[in-house]
Amino acid sequence: MKPFAYVNPTHEKDAVAALGPEFEKALPIGGGQDLLARMKDYVTQPDRLVNVKGALEATVTAANGGLRIGAAMKLVDLAEHAEVARMYPAITAAAIEVGTPQIRNQGTVGGNLNQRPRCWYFRNEEFNCFKKGGNTCFSITGENQFHAIFGGGPSFIVHPSSLAVPMVAHGATFRIVGPKGERLVPAAEYFTLPVKNVRTENVLAPDELLTHAILPAPGTVKSGHYEVRYKTSHDWPIAFATVLLTMNGATVRSARVVMGAVAPIPWRSPAAEKVLSGKTITEETAAAAAEAAVQGARPLSENAYKIQVAKTAVKRAILRAAGIQTV
Ligand SMILES: Cc1cc2nc3c(=O)[nH]c(=O)nc-3n(C[C@H](O)[C@H](O)[C@H](O)COP(=O)(O)OP(=O)(O)OC[C@H]3O[C@@H](n4cnc5c(N)ncnc54)[C@H](O)[C@@H]3O)c2cc1C
Repeated sequence: MKPFAYVNPTHEKDAVAALGPEFEKALPIGGGQDLLARMKDYVTQPDRLVNVKGALEATVTAANGGLRIGAAMKLVDLAEHAEVARMYPAITAAAIEVGTPQIRNQGTVGGNLNQRPRCWYFRNEEFNCFKKGGNTCFSITGENQFHAIFGGGPSFIVHPSSLAVPMVAHGATFRIVGPKGERLVPAAEYFTLPVKNVRTENVLAPDELLTHAILPAPGTVKSGHYEVRYKTSHDWPIAFATVLLTMNGATVRSARVVMGAVAPIPWRSPAAEKVLSGKTITEETAAAAAEAAVQGARPLSENAYKIQVAKTAVKRAILRAAGIQTV
């Protein structure tokens, strides 16, 4: 590992000042599980690490009928938070399924939302792909079993964060601080496609930090979250979905359907939402919406199977949201 300096600020302003404008020269570190692994593999080689755990909030506080979650909060604390579970069960479901107890004990909310892609070409120092400043995506002609079926190009990574998907579904706003002060960005606009900037996965500048996820009042929305993994022990999901339903009696007034692990960003499906609108939730309507959710998928050579997996995740998340139990 390349030698690096370590800064331990106690205030967000000092943390921002320690970052600087150059790409990957100085990087924030939360639990370090993603960042240190990349550094050990010579994929990311910063000169300075800025520990944000003493500088950012690690608590959940009430905010306008919703909740404000500090980026330094450990995933285990999020997963076990009673108010989060009561108001946003899909977020709790996503947090509980992240990795293993050890990973949740160490990982932070900020680190989870900003973790870099799991693509094996990106994670291997020998492959100078788009994300490392190169001029190709090796997955296109290579091993692409776990890559994008939506929104790919020029890079075909999928976003690795489980929390990102229910955050987008719930219409969270992210608070960002930088040298010029704070800005608020909807979670749906925080994550960016590779066509916008292939080197990164979000709108953060090198000298900015994510400090909070702010969730709006949930109202009477019902939610369902369903993840499909290759194995049931620790691993990232192959595809997953968060579904929110706002009901009008027995029929759906409006729906939000967001898929994860299928695209470089949390992938919302207006087509599936339209199918659900005005309907009573049954196995058949859930299946029809799931079918609509995968329309337009463009699989690579080895990952067409993800279409069926995504369809299953959407269908089961809809049924869970409607209180119809699924496996
Ligand atoms: C076996 C295994 C299984 C896993 N399964 C899952 C899974 O199912 N779902 C899932 O979501 N994750 C999964 N993970 C990933 C794990 O959840 C993340 O590595 C962890 O959440 C990262 O948190 P951290 O605090 O350790 O991040 P760090 O490694 O400290 O940071 C990650 C990145 O975010 C940046 N960063 C950190 N904090 C901030 C901030 N406040 N503002 C801006 N940038 C910041 C860092 O610079 C770094 O680039 C798994 C990991 C392992 C090892």
